[in-house]
Amino acid sequence: MIDLPRHNANFCAEHLQEFCRRQMLKAIDDFEMLARGDRVIVAVSGGKDSLAVWDMLVEVGYEADGLYVGLGIGEYSDASGGYARRFAEGRGLRLTTIDLRDEYGYDVPTAARATRRVPCSACGLSKRHLFDRAARDGGYDAVVTGHSLDDEAAVLFGNTLRWDIEYLARQLPVLPATNGFPRKVKPLVRLTERETAAWCLVRGIDYQVEECPIAAGNRHLGYKEALNSIEKRSPGSKAAFYLGFIDRVAPLLAGATVAAAGGLSACDVCGAPTTGTTCAFCRLVKTAAAHEPVPVELVVHSRKGR
Ligand code: SF4
Repeated sequence: MIDLPRHNANFCAEHLQEFCRRQMLKAIDDFEMLARGDRVIVAVSGGKDSLAVWDMLVEVGYEADGLYVGLGIGEYSDASGGYARRFAEGRGLRLTTIDLRDEYGYDVPTAARATRRVPCSACGLSKRHLFDRAARDGGYDAVVTGHSLDDEAAVLFGNTLRWDIEYLARQLPVLPATNGFPRKVKPLVRLTERETAAWCLVRGIDYQVEECPIAAGNRHLGYKEALNSIEKRSPGSKAAFYLGFIDRVAPLLAGATVAAAGGLSACDVCGAPTTGTTCAFCRLVKTAAAHEPVPVELVVHSRKGR
């Protein structure tokens, strides 16, 4: 039996799966994320959330392929790629792998050092660009990510602490396709990490348990811990916080984002939509690939020293 305090209930394996499927389908319906027959590409990290959402989507009948991006974060990336590959092979699913070092001549630690960006910023930019491009090139209807209720509540918490209206206005479970960028959807926003871990357990899915070593001590994890401690005392707080925001506050913020509409042209290197001449990804590649490789330990060590 699996105990889910926020529902004040214990679930057997069968009912746990039914519960997770229902929550995912409710999110898809409520937020009009996907239509029946949509082809989607899942951003796969090898962790529980992305493998769970891929598994659930296939199980309920969506045509879903996976894309794994090898970030070059030492052993963590090697192991994560292995989990993604074994999952796909075991189920006969199509997984595309892009290795940043092999295909673009850099990795995340090197990009962070070369551009003097925080590693997560270089990492996020690389992943967004490659997922968008894969969706465009492959004719997929949407990019799916495994963001859970814990992720979304933690991001909301951080954005609220800073009253970052621009980010708050964009923190939606579905972003429509616009200006050459594909639709992006987060079907797991009604499920916690504990619930997706339980899904993986009952479905026999092996996943990367380790956190990315670069994440250690970052603000996002701090927000998660703070919310976990509130949730422990008051089960259901996380869902009330995030889903209440989406229901009652997000509509009030609609229009508060700076419209990225007009003025986009094709990147002169890769053809992706961009506001400048060369897109941010191609500029990153140029700088990072020219830098000598930086071992992940150096980046982790320097972040701990802050
Ligand atoms: Fe990338 Fe690691 Fe940062 Fe996640 S925590 S965005 S995997 S560098």
